[in-house]
Amino acid sequence: MGRKIQHNINMIKGSKMSEESRLKMSQSHMGNKSRLGIKHREDVKLRMSNSHKGKPLSELHRKSIGLSQIGRKHTAKSLEKMRLIKLGNSYNLGKKVPYEKRIKRMGINHPLWKGGYNSLPDKIRRLYEYRQWRSDVFTRDDYTCQECGFMGYIEADHIKSFRTIINEYNIETVEGALLCSELWDINNGRTLCSPCHKNTDNYGSKLVWKK
Ligand SMILES: [Zn+2]
Repeated sequence: MGRKIQHNINMIKGSKMSEESRLKMSQSHMGNKSRLGIKHREDVKLRMSNSHKGKPLSELHRKSIGLSQIGRKHTAKSLEKMRLIKLGNSYNLGKKVPYEKRIKRMGINHPLWKGGYNSLPDKIRRLYEYRQWRSDVFTRDDYTCQECGFMGYIEADHIKSFRTIINEYNIETVEGALLCSELWDINNGRTLCSPCHKNTDNYGSKLVWKK
């Protein structure tokens, strides 16, 4: 008798079943083929779809969606669609900037000129130590943007900018940079996603660096 009452209490509408009983139910249904091949009615399908709308996906679910997309290629149809979208963006299509005008914004004259391949910051960025510093920052921050929590494409930000440190210590060579401990302090780095990185105060300073 006690058992029956217990059962009814468990079935109250809206109450959640315990993890254990959900597992039990799931196991008891495994291998059950009684509904195999039977399709849901259209209205039932709609109801099921609606009840899932706006529900956030679990971490596991999102990961497995990602994994299932690996190696997938665009179909010819979607490639064509992408091509047309690109074509639609025709603002500069067919326009040619004359060479005399172009050369004014080339190389060292370009507003985004960073000093060339052999500038000091570039040399530093190619060092093994620099890659190690970046990877240490990412690991410490668990590959998560420290501003908004985004996980995906991330960048390592210098809280005190690269340029400030180099100017402060008068660093002129790669050897000098290697000796400067402040440059390699991971406490001066944090993981940011691209948009949050662009929002930082010193983001622009590394874009315009003429040396
Ligand atoms: Zn962010």
